[in-house]
Amino acid sequence: MDSRKSAKQEMERKRNCFTLSCFVCNSSFEIDEYGSFYYCKKCGGVLEIKIAKPDDLLSSENEIGSRASGKTTSRLHSSSRGVWKYSDLIPIWQETNIVSMPEGDTPLVECRNLARVLGVKSLYVKFEGLNPTGSFKDRGMTVGVSKANELGFKRLICASTGNTSASLAAYSARANLKCIVLIPKGKIALGKVAQAVAYGAEIFQVEGNFDECLRMATEIAEQGREILLLNSVNPFRIEGQKTATFEITEQLGFVPDNVILPVGNGGNISSLWKGFKEINQFAFLENVKGIEQRERMPRMIGIQAEGASPIARAFRLGAKSIEPEIEPHTDASAINIGSPINWAKALAAI
Ligand SMILES: [Zn+2]
Repeated sequence: MDSRKSAKQEMERKRNCFTLSCFVCNSSFEIDEYGSFYYCKKCGGVLEIKIAKPDDLLSSENEIGSRASGKTTSRLHSSSRGVWKYSDLIPIWQETNIVSMPEGDTPLVECRNLARVLGVKSLYVKFEGLNPTGSFKDRGMTVGVSKANELGFKRLICASTGNTSASLAAYSARANLKCIVLIPKGKIALGKVAQAVAYGAEIFQVEGNFDECLRMATEIAEQGREILLLNSVNPFRIEGQKTATFEITEQLGFVPDNVILPVGNGGNISSLWKGFKEINQFAFLENVKGIEQRERMPRMIGIQAEGASPIARAFRLGAKSIEPEIEPHTDASAINIGSPINWAKALAAI
């Protein structure tokens, strides 16, 4: 077969496998229209990427399908590590649009002493600080910026308390795209912003907290299809961050009982939950016990600071929605968020 023709067919096959859906009302939208809107056009709910045709994704032409159908041919997985090892499950149509440093493939460190102190059988820490800009955000940004590239955006924007700005600035620089960062005045970790400065981002200090920065960034992005918003409301970031679960499960050889992580905007806990669901749905990981025989999901434990805990409070009260905090306050600046945009996904995960 003509290789150009087969690449085009492959692109079409992949494009047909994914859809952009509303997490709340389930309405579907075209993925290629993303960026002209950020929330559901019908109900205003947060959006997510869904695998619309799992059977096609499992076609025997690709790696996951090969495993499912018992064949041993290898394709995408063989040449990549980290996030892009799992590119079959990531909605980027063309490999040439990928912007990577690379990222992911981080160690899972067993903490024996801490496990003993806490009285648990085993305890592991996923060392996400080893990503290119020093945080898990790079997993999401490699996919988010690749999609921005694929959609033809030249300018990207985010609101940030630190790590997000470092990551977006780095990936924007890598892709030769312009990066705009809005930070809450006096409420961020300066060491983290140093990276954004070094990577040439345009940085604006906003009088207000993170929630106000995000509102402003969203308004700017919504004004026309010129600037793409890259905060965790962007569902492509979630698609990158979910790969941490594939790595954790492969490193352990089983799905863990509990996963504990800090919760700010709720994007990461939602991503990991989505990742574990896909592990169960596709059973595509090698040398992992139990996932093909039964549904095996970990308990997701989210941690919030007392002064910024709308999700923890809603969970405790058994509420169906959160009550935003107008003036959140905690020394943990990265999770000082009173109005988490991914609260619906995070509550569902927990
Ligand atoms: Zn909706």
